[in-house]
Formats: sequence, C-alpha cells, structure tokens
Amino acid sequence: MMKSIYGKLICGFLITIVFSFSVAGYVALRSNYDQIADMAQNELSATSEYVVGILNSLEDTNINDIMDQYAISSEINITLYSPNYGYYTYGGNKYAPSKEMMKRYYYDDSKNGCYAEQKSIQSYGSKTNIRDMDVYVYVQKDTSYEKSIFANSAVLILGCVFLSGNLVFIAIADIIVKPITRLTNATKELSKGNYSVRVNYVGDDEISRLNQGFNQMAQQLAKQEETRQKFISDISHEFQTPLTAIQGFANILKEEDLPKEQRQKYADIILFHSKRLSTLSKNMLQLTLLEREEVELEFTTFSIVEQLLRVISTQENQAILKDIEIEFERPRKDAMVYGDEQRLEQVWINIISNAIKYTDKGGLITIRVKKTSREVEVSIEDTGHGMSKEVISHIFERFYREDKARSVEGNGLGLSIVKSIIDLHHGNIDVISQVDVGSTFIIKLPSERKSFDLKEKLSLNRKD
Ligand code: ADP
Repeated sequence: MMKSIYGKLICGFLITIVFSFSVAGYVALRSNYDQIADMAQNELSATSEYVVGILNSLEDTNINDIMDQYAISSEINITLYSPNYGYYTYGGNKYAPSKEMMKRYYYDDSKNGCYAEQKSIQSYGSKTNIRDMDVYVYVQKDTSYEKSIFANSAVLILGCVFLSGNLVFIAIADIIVKPITRLTNATKELSKGNYSVRVNYVGDDEISRLNQGFNQMAQQLAKQEETRQKFISDISHEFQTPLTAIQGFANILKEEDLPKEQRQKYADIILFHSKRLSTLSKNMLQLTLLEREEVELEFTTFSIVEQLLRVISTQENQAILKDIEIEFERPRKDAMVYGDEQRLEQVWINIISNAIKYTDKGGLITIRVKKTSREVEVSIEDTGHGMSKEVISHIFERFYREDKARSVEGNGLGLSIVKSIIDLHHGNIDVISQVDVGSTFIIKLPSERKSFDLKEKLSLNRKD
C-alpha cells in the first residue's frame, strides 16, 4: 500500500492531520486549562470571603451542617484551622488537607492569601478573622470535570475531521491516481511496441501536460519506427540491384567458352556494381555517423575559394565528358570559412557532381562565392533538368531520387549527407529550381568562429 502513490498520499494526509491536530489540540488545551484555573481561583477567593462572612454572622448550632451542605452543593471543599477554633472540614472531599497540614499552613506566613494547583485541584488559603480568632481558611475545587469537557470535545472534533477528511481525501486521491495508472498502462503498452497507444487528456494541469507529452513521444516513436522500417527496406532495395547484377554476371563468367571481350565486359560490370555497393555502404556509414551527431568536427579557418578550385579540378573530367562548362566567379578578396574542411569538401563534391549528372550535354555550371560581414555564400547554378516544388521538398530525404528508373548513377544519399554537414555547421541550404531550366543550390556558412561551437558540441555529445 505504502509503495503506491495512492498509499503515500493517504499516509501523508493522515500524518499531516494527526500532527497538526496534536499541535493545535495541545495549544488549545493549554490555554483552556489556564482559563479554567483563572476562573477557579477567582471563584475560590470570593468563596473564601463568603465563607468567612457566613461564619461571622451565623451563630447557629447547626453551623456545621449548613457549611457542609453549602460546600457539597457548590462542589467545593472548605477546611478551617485555628489552635483555638479547632480543625473542621466541609464538603467531604477526600483531597482535604489533614489537620497537620493545616497547622503548618497556619504558621507559615507564605501560605496566607496563596493559590495552589495540584493535578486538577485548585486551592486558595488565607488567614482571616472569624469571631475574633485568627483562622486559616482553605477552599478547594476540583476542575477535572471542566477540563475533561474540553478534552472530550477536542477528541470528538479530531475524530470527525479524521473520518470525514479521510473520505474526501480518498476521493481526491482517486482523481489524482487514476490518470497516473492510465498513463502507466499506456507506457507498458508502448514499451511492448504498440506505438499507436494514446492517452486522453483535458485541461492544462500537470498530469494533462504529462499525457500530452506522452502522446507526442508515442507519435514521435511511431514516426521513427516508420522511418527505420523505410530505411531498412530502402537499404535492402539499394543493395539488391547491384547484388543481382553481380550474381547474374558472375554466373555467366563461369561459362568456359566465353569470348575474351565478353569476359572483360562482364568483369567490368561486376566491378562497376561492386564499386557502387562500396560507395553505398560508405555513404550510409557517413550519414549514420553525421545523424547520430556524435561526430567531432575539426573546425579551422580556411579559404573557400581555394577549396572550390580544388574540387572543380577533380570534377572537370566528368564535365568535359558531357561538354559542360564550369564557370567560377570568385570574389575580389579571398573568402574565409570557419568549418570542417574535409566535410565541406564533401558538400561541394556532392552538389557539383549532381549538377554535372543532372545537366545535359553542352550545359553550363556557374559557381559563385559572395562574402558578407559574417557569412560566406556559395551558389552552384546549373542549366540542367531542374526540379518541381514537390521534388525539392524531398531531395534531402535519405534514398530519395526523382529518377525512379535509376537511369542516372546515384543512391539518393548525397544531399542527405550535404544537409547534415551544413546543419552541423549551423549553416543554411536553399534550392531554387525550375523544371527544364535549371537549379541553383545556395549555401550559407559562417565565416568566423561563433560562440555556439563549444556549447553546442557539449550538448551534442550529451545527447544519446
Ligand atoms: P543521387 O545520388 O540520386 O544524386 P542525391 O541525394 O544527391 O542523390 O540527390 C537526390 C535527388 O535530388 C536526385 O536523385 C535528383 O532527383 C535530385 N537532384 C539533386 N541535384 C539535382 C540537380 N542539380 N538538378 C536536378 N535534380 C537534382
């Protein structure tokens, strides 16, 4: 019971009630007892004067009976002592002081006009003059009844609050605990792999917000699962085509009487497809690393112009084969970029090789570098096939290729890698394109060290 929130709430409530009532009860009892004692003392001193008055005025032979009746009806005890007058006690109460005690009080000056309290018995003693004799008068009253009335009502109130409070609290605890139990059950369902599980929520309290967060998490997990499944099916699909080709041509190569040229041709096809597989697995590995955001970028400040010149020279052969001209409009001053040189080189290779791939013979590719105060903007424009808005919205997805027939070499991972690298640099990539006119990829990168880099790295490393 104590282990559940329900049990804890009830126990917490009980402890609070008992503790606060004990403190409140103690304080109230103390002040009530003090008041009772005050009242009793006032009454006793008045009674004492009254008793002296009676004894002085009445010369009845039945004085003892009268005093006894008076004491019993007033629920008090009266004791008198004087060496000449003698020892008398009225009211028949067992707590009356003995003759010896009264004798001591009589001779003790400090006991004259003095209040005392023992347990619940209040007393007042004074030495007065009765019929020309010094008599010590001792009046007592038992206040335990008055005290017990208050104590009983305090216990009654505590009991009522305890019971009614518990009933109300059990109902409230139920309202709090039920949604938590529902959420716990939903979490169990989710952990079993049921990503469609959702919890209802209304309002904007803490539990509703928790439920809302749970639903968002479940939705996110469902999406991730869908992406994972798609990724796996894309991978197997991408691997399947070259593997089928390799198997097919390897089988043909087994035939012994195959002419030498054909053997050469089939071996080349096998080589081509195995290279494709190798590129594919390298790209996948690179992308997975980049997307896990655990990658350590090596930031330096370097010349983007020199880097682009290097990349253009490696891509030129491909361009010449298709009679495509590459123009480079460089700024008058050199432009520096703060980033990971090797990974950014990959960005230019991917975009420029795409521009060559998707541009027909005789086309033109224009690369421009512009420098603003804090950024460097690189644009790569081609006069190629172009893309529709729909295609543009997908090009950064893994394995997405507009050309489903795969007439152009590729695996649909190039731009996903580009996007991840640009994001890790806190840069920006935009695409402007028109079908059959051409496309322009515009990349903006920071030209100097930003404060993000250390902070971001720390938080990226912490992410699981
Ligand atoms: P791929 O290996 O297929 O080139 P990418 O991720 O590099 O993969 O590109 C994804 C898709 O974006 C390509 O299949 C193509 O449809 C489209 N694309 C990329 N660059 C261009 C471009 N310069 N012109 C037209 N289409 C492009």
